[in-house]
Amino acid sequence: MNDKGLVLVVEDERPIADLVRLYLSRDGFGVHVEHDGAAGLAAARRLRPVACVLDIALPGIDGTEICRRLRADGDWTPVVFLTARDDEVDRILGLELGGDDYMTKPFSPRELVARVRALLRRAAGPGDGERVLTLGAVTLDPGRRLASVAGRTLSLTSTEFDLLGHLLRRPGRVFTRDELLAGVWGYASSHAGTRTVDVHVAQVRAKLGDAAGLIRTVRGVGYTADA
Ligand code: CA
Repeated sequence: MNDKGLVLVVEDERPIADLVRLYLSRDGFGVHVEHDGAAGLAAARRLRPVACVLDIALPGIDGTEICRRLRADGDWTPVVFLTARDDEVDRILGLELGGDDYMTKPFSPRELVARVRALLRRAAGPGDGERVLTLGAVTLDPGRRLASVAGRTLSLTSTEFDLLGHLLRRPGRVFTRDELLAGVWGYASSHAGTRTVDVHVAQVRAKLGDAAGLIRTVRGVGYTADA
């Protein structure tokens, strides 16, 4: 049932949070709810949801600050803000947080679900249902075939892009060279092939510059990406 991915909802008004949870889960999303800003930010970083619904006025860290901190981490997860005040709308839209949306309370939960779905469609890009991948300073947008380090766009070849994407999709998972060959190049394993993997990893590392340490060599096994 929860096959559309996890949505994080940060809302201190419990009746609203419950309603949002109900409608999102009915639509097939997994839902995780937090009721204050610090817990919300921690959950966003820990759970890596496909989208966030952030109330603006929250105890502790407010909703816009949660979003700003995620963006500072290079996390471009789509965010829909909830606000009780019409006069906040200019401020929200002026934040330049990229692709965000908002709803003014009271709102229709059905409409909120439609907004979340629209944001996810946009974030996925044309013909590609995959979400943006972020690890440390590195961000990869599979739909747009864009990779960047701390906002600096990388010029990756298609193979380098796919290799980096393969590692970033499963942070911390150690891939053998044969697994990478099969997963990225579609080859059966071969001795010559493992050298291909090493060369490409070296090229990706060179292009990552300061973030090269993101791809770690696991001696005798293969490679892993971790922050
Ligand atoms: Ca509130």
